[in-house]
Amino acid sequence: QSVIVNGEFVERSKAKIDIEDRGYQFGDGIYEVIRVYNGKMFTATEHLERLFESSKKIRMQIPYTINELNQMLTELITRNDLTIGTIYMQITRGISPRNHAFPAADIQPTLVAYTKEAARPVETMRAGVKTILNEDIRWLLCDIKSLNLLGNLMAKQKAVEAGCFEAIQHRDEIVTEGSLSNISIIKNGKVITHPANHLILNGITRQKVLEICQNNNIPFEEIPFTLEDLKNADEIFLTGTTVEITPIVEVEGEKVGSGTIGSITNKLQQLFEKEIEKQCGR
Ligand code: PMP
Repeated sequence: QSVIVNGEFVERSKAKIDIEDRGYQFGDGIYEVIRVYNGKMFTATEHLERLFESSKKIRMQIPYTINELNQMLTELITRNDLTIGTIYMQITRGISPRNHAFPAADIQPTLVAYTKEAARPVETMRAGVKTILNEDIRWLLCDIKSLNLLGNLMAKQKAVEAGCFEAIQHRDEIVTEGSLSNISIIKNGKVITHPANHLILNGITRQKVLEICQNNNIPFEEIPFTLEDLKNADEIFLTGTTVEITPIVEVEGEKVGSGTIGSITNKLQQLFEKEIEKQCGR
């Protein structure tokens, strides 16, 4: 297995990260996960653009262009012979003696990337998943794809311990997002999801789904919705790079609609699959 460390391809077992890397000590960095289908990256540009947006928001300079990153990742896929799976990449503020203040400007960020084989989640996409509710106690810059994921991890763990796949987070009455996914509800044929502001990560899958709605005359709205709306929803689904479009069939032990995948969710899944085929072939 080849991995990328600072632009170099090295054997994973030979990769070395300093204990004073700021990502390791502070979570001072950002990341992206990109899906690979058929040996090709899906929505790579969107992910890389978001990486640069995240880097600006934490005032960190990425010493590569989008094109250079794209080429490196493409090369990594080839070297590892990856046909279906994910690429994980992160960039931290580099290695420097531990100090909360940013290091000097000449300290280079640390880039790491590796690939993982992963099948599409066909079973959960068909059968749907169970969820719990959880108060969203995270910070107020959730639009940054930060390495600091403790709030998300605590939420996910609570779900797992309840025998569920995901925690639907809410700030008081307003539903924000999952621990690793965005949440959408469908009411009377309309897809409703939280607006892309500081309270959620603007998921690439979320954006793709809204684009699909736009192009296929499926009504949609980006507007905050409440726990009450969630309870009364006809369908609920979550979106994310690894989970694609996964129906939510239970919230806190209560069935959503009939307790099986809804017709609009199903239609969105089919249209999403077409998008994958368009970009990556079949
Ligand atoms: N919200 C959070 C908190 C996430 O971790 C993710 C997964 N990266 C998402 C939403 C979905 O984003 P995307 O569709 O870009 O994977």
